[in-house]
Amino acid sequence: MTTTTKTAVPKPVPVPDEASAPFFDGAMRGTLMLLRCRECATFLSPIPGIGAPLRPRCVACFSGDLEWAPSSGRATLYSFVIMHQLYDEAFAQDVPYNIAVVETDEGVRLTSQVADCPNEALEVGMALEVTFERMSDDVAVPKFRPAT
Ligand SMILES: [Zn+2]
Repeated sequence: MTTTTKTAVPKPVPVPDEASAPFFDGAMRGTLMLLRCRECATFLSPIPGIGAPLRPRCVACFSGDLEWAPSSGRATLYSFVIMHQLYDEAFAQDVPYNIAVVETDEGVRLTSQVADCPNEALEVGMALEVTFERMSDDVAVPKFRPAT
């Protein structure tokens, strides 16, 4: 009889660039950093969407004068799906896992994941708080867990 040992495939790790460095530096310190408009104080997603201008602008007043600012880390679960299909071997140990859209107290919606919570217990509107998963020596990514 032959046995084969499957080597675990590592998960992809984000590679910070100049534009995203403040976000990832904050994550390594345990702080969720968001963009904030200096003109009207509206908070913005740190991750420009598809079709976003190369230089992000405020969604409320269109100012390009933005700064990085810490989030409270508090959020609610806005929406979620449970992934049962395995698209990437690196996630084989996680299936089924959740992909969540959370809305921070600052009004910013982020695609993330709810950790430390069984998928069956997920409920739209539940209170969450940010937590960070260390992906490598230099990179951590924000996730959310039920608020304590
Ligand atoms: Zn603004």
